[in-house]
Amino acid sequence: MKHSICLIPLIASLMSGCMIGLDAGYPREQTITRSVEFMLSFDDGPRPNTTERVLDMLATLKATDGTPVKAGFFLLADAPDEFWQRWIYYAPYELWSDKGSIAKYPTIAVRIQRAGHIIGNHSTHHAWFRWPWLDTPEAVLSEFTEWEAISQRVLGISNVRLFRPPNLILNTNVRETANRLGYRVVMGESVGDTIPGITVDVVKQRTQSILAAWNRPYPCLLIFHDNRPTTYRHLDEIVGSLQQQGFRLVHFDPKRL
Ligand SMILES: [Zn+2]
Repeated sequence: MKHSICLIPLIASLMSGCMIGLDAGYPREQTITRSVEFMLSFDDGPRPNTTERVLDMLATLKATDGTPVKAGFFLLADAPDEFWQRWIYYAPYELWSDKGSIAKYPTIAVRIQRAGHIIGNHSTHHAWFRWPWLDTPEAVLSEFTEWEAISQRVLGISNVRLFRPPNLILNTNVRETANRLGYRVVMGESVGDTIPGITVDVVKQRTQSILAAWNRPYPCLLIFHDNRPTTYRHLDEIVGSLQQQGFRLVHFDPKRL
């Protein structure tokens, strides 16, 4: 009886085609995920303290070429501060969220640029394009062009034209306006840091699952938010844990997506 119990795991592992010794330290999935590359992007900045903490951590994180990693920052130009203004623009579930603004924090936007990160357009006000008054060609156009005017004043003219729609809502008006203005729409994989009360361990698990399941022929672009505590407190820990598992951190490069 004793012997037959011991044999069960041995037989099971032989049937699955694995040698016990090899299986113990290096699960089969790990050899596959070793080649998965990922990039970092951050939405809803720039904000004092939180964005600055993210920049400090990015300077310590090395990409596969050994240099400090470059990320994509999808900035807001003039996010509303007043609660009544937020009702005009924000999704109802994020009225309490403090978002960034190039107009209000130009020096932080310049710091992002000087550090070599790539800056994209995330709309002027974090417009929730499901509001009927924002889902019109005129309103969508103004969210793009007002952003350009403010960004050019602070950061100069850029030939990089990237747009990430707020809340990843890519409806007809947004798609057509982006095309007409020559923008590349950059989506990505949300890590969940906007979920209220989410812990660093859950974000680690989510990012690990996203990368483990990644099977596209280009790197996975993760979406963080530099105004969210799990990210601005623990970004280095989250990324470090992914690197330890063999996932490869590469510089943000929209041409590779
Ligand atoms: Zn956003």
